[in-house]
Amino acid sequence: MADDYDTRDILRPLVFRLHENVPSIVREVLLERGWSEFDKKGQDDADWNLYWRNSPFHMTDHHSIKPWQRLNHYPEAVRITRKDYLARHLKRMKGAYGSALYEFSPVAFIMPNDYVKFIAEYNKERQSVDRRPSYWICKPVDLSRGRGILIFQDIKDLVYDCTVIVQKYISNPLLISGYKLDLRLYVCVTSFCPLTIYTYKEGLVRFATEKFDLSSLDNVYAHLTNTSINKYGASYKKYKEGIGCGCKWTFSKFRSYLRIFGVDDVVLWQKINNIVILTLLAVTPLPVASNCFELFGFDILIDDKFKPWLLEVNYNPALCLDCSIDDTVKRKLLHDIVELLNYKQIDTFRQNQVAGIKAGRRSTAGESATEETPGLLTCQKVAKCASSEQPALQASRASIRKVATLTRRTARAHPRKTLTSQLRERMNMPKIPSQAKAETKNKHFPGAGHSPHTSAQLSCWLPTPDFCNYRLTTRPYFLSDKDQRPIPRVGDFVLIFPFNEAALQASRDGTDIKSIIKEINKLISKQLPLEQQNTKKRVGYLTSV
Ligand code: ADP
Repeated sequence: MADDYDTRDILRPLVFRLHENVPSIVREVLLERGWSEFDKKGQDDADWNLYWRNSPFHMTDHHSIKPWQRLNHYPEAVRITRKDYLARHLKRMKGAYGSALYEFSPVAFIMPNDYVKFIAEYNKERQSVDRRPSYWICKPVDLSRGRGILIFQDIKDLVYDCTVIVQKYISNPLLISGYKLDLRLYVCVTSFCPLTIYTYKEGLVRFATEKFDLSSLDNVYAHLTNTSINKYGASYKKYKEGIGCGCKWTFSKFRSYLRIFGVDDVVLWQKINNIVILTLLAVTPLPVASNCFELFGFDILIDDKFKPWLLEVNYNPALCLDCSIDDTVKRKLLHDIVELLNYKQIDTFRQNQVAGIKAGRRSTAGESATEETPGLLTCQKVAKCASSEQPALQASRASIRKVATLTRRTARAHPRKTLTSQLRERMNMPKIPSQAKAETKNKHFPGAGHSPHTSAQLSCWLPTPDFCNYRLTTRPYFLSDKDQRPIPRVGDFVLIFPFNEAALQASRDGTDIKSIIKEINKLISKQLPLEQQNTKKRVGYLTSV
C-alpha cells in the first residue's frame, strides 16, 4: 500500500501557482515542462512548488515558505528597481569606494529634494566656457515603459508633478545605421547571502525606430528604446536599413555585428558584468529570505566609445511576446530559470521522505526538513557573527537553530501528500557530469574572467546544486558547507558572482563589501590591458557606421 502511494508521489508533477497578470508565457513554459497549475479549491496551500507574482509577496508568504517551495521575489528587491532608490545607493557607493568604480551610472538628482544641487550643477556647466551644456532626462521614479519621460537642455523646459530623477542624458549613444539602441540584460540572483549572481547570455537589443536626432528632443521614437513605445511608431513594421523590421535584435546578432566591425564583445560584456555586480553590491545585504530568487532586467546603454552605462534595473522585466525574437529569447530564459531553481534538490528531499517511510516511517517530512530551514535572517547579522566575535557567533547559530526548529514544526504539521514528485522535472534536468571533482581553486570559477564556459570546463565541476538556494543562508554554512560552490553555468545562465575563491569567502561570511570591492578592482586591472589592446584595434571602425 505504501509503495503504491510512493509511486503515485513519484509521478505527481510539480505545481506552479500564478498570481493575476503574470504573462501567459510563464504558464506555457511550466506546462511544457510537465508541471501542473495549482488549484486553490482542490489543493492545500503548501502544495505548490513555485509561486510567481508580478508584485512583492507579503511577509507572511516569506515566513510560511516550505522547503520545497520557491518565490520569484525577494523582500525589498525594490531597493534597486525604483529609480530614486537606485540613484541613492549608487551615490553612496561612489562616496565610499570612489567615483571611478561607480561612474557607470549617469549623474542623477532626485527631485524635488535635490533641486538646489541640480541647479548648482546646471549653472556650473552653463558658466564653463569649454564645456557644451549637457542634455538631461527627467523620469518619474516609479513609472516604467517610458511613461512620463522628458528630455531637455534648457531648465525652463523642466516640469514635473511627482518625484522624478533628473539624470544626465547620454547624448552620444552607439548608433547602428543612425538608430539608438540599448540592451535588456537578464540577471538572476539566486541568493543575496551569499551573493550569487547569474547573467543570461542571450538577451534583447532594443532599438528606437526613428533616427537619433538631438534637435528633436521630444521625438520619443528617436530617443527612447522602450518597445512599449516603439511598437506604436509609424516605422515599427517598416523595413529599416541596417536594422530590419520591428525594433529588436538578440544579443547573439548584436555580438556578431560588433565582431564584424572589429569590436571585442567579450571586453564589453566583462564591463557589463562588472556593472551588474557593483550595482547589486550597492543594495546588499537585503534581508535574507528563504527560497527566493529574483529575475532583474538591467537596461544598459552603450555610448559611441563603447562604454556601457546603467540606465535602470527593472523589477519584473517584461515577459510579454511582441515578436518572434521575444518568443525565442524569453521562452528559453524561463526554461533556464526553472533549471536554475534546482528542483532536483526537492527531489532528494522527497526521496528521503520515501526512504524514511519505507524504513518503517521512522523518518518524517519534518526530519528531512532540518536540511532546509526557511525563515528570515539579516545577512549582516550572520556576517558579523561569523567573521568576528565568538559569543555573537554562538548567538547567531542559536538563532539559526531556532528558525530550524520552528521550520521543523511547521513541516511536521504539513500533510504528507504535499511532497509532490519531481520525476518529470528530473527527466528535464541537464546532465552535468559529477564524476570529476574540481581539482583546483580556479576550476571552481571558470567564469572568473566572465568568459563563456565551455562544456569541458563544466565537466570539471562538481555540482552542488543547493548552494544557490537559501539552504546556505539558514543552514550554518560555517559548519559543513564550506566546500560548496555554485554551479558555474545552467543553460544560458552564467555565474558572474562569486568569480573567485576570495569573492566567495567574502560573500559567504556575510557580505564583506570592502573585500569584494578589492577583488573587483583586481579583476578590472587584469581586464584593462586586454581592453587597451582592443581599443587600438577598433579605432575608426564602428563609429563611422
Ligand atoms: P522606464 O522605466 O520608463 O523604461 P528608463 O530609465 O528605462 O525608464 O528609460 C527609458 C528609455 O529612455 C531607455 O530605454 C533609454 O532609451 C532612454 N534613456 C533613459 N535614461 C537615459 C539616459 N540617461 N541617457 C540616454 N537615454 C536614456
